[in-house]
Amino acid sequence: MSCFSGDPNFCPECGSVLPVPGMRDTLRCPRCAFSLPVRELSGQEIRSTVIFNPVEQSSIVAEDNDSELKGPVIDRRCSRCNKEGMVYQTKQMRSADEGQTVFFTCIHCRYQEKEDS
Ligand SMILES: [Zn+2]
Ligand SMILES: [Zn+2]
Repeated sequence: MSCFSGDPNFCPECGSVLPVPGMRDTLRCPRCAFSLPVRELSGQEIRSTVIFNPVEQSSIVAEDNDSELKGPVIDRRCSRCNKEGMVYQTKQMRSADEGQTVFFTCIHCRYQEKEDS
């Protein structure tokens, strides 16, 4: 029974403070012959790191951008870039009695305008 076991900062054999793990593969106790593979210590940190999936995240953003440009293109002049061609979309607002709102998205600069009908 050892009160030092489980704490990687102390030697489980003699209880002396172990040196900070460097680039070496093993952590060696300065007082006794005990040595500990460093990979076992750092392995826990690696496993707990949340692996983020950037590919999935960016595909969601791309879908959102595409949906803005789905719909009939009309000859409406964009008030920002002054070019003709805007995607026409209607969206139903929260309640039915509020009526439809028409969205115009510029196909050139993606500027959005809306008009309540
Ligand atoms: Zn030791
Ligand atoms: Zn524009």
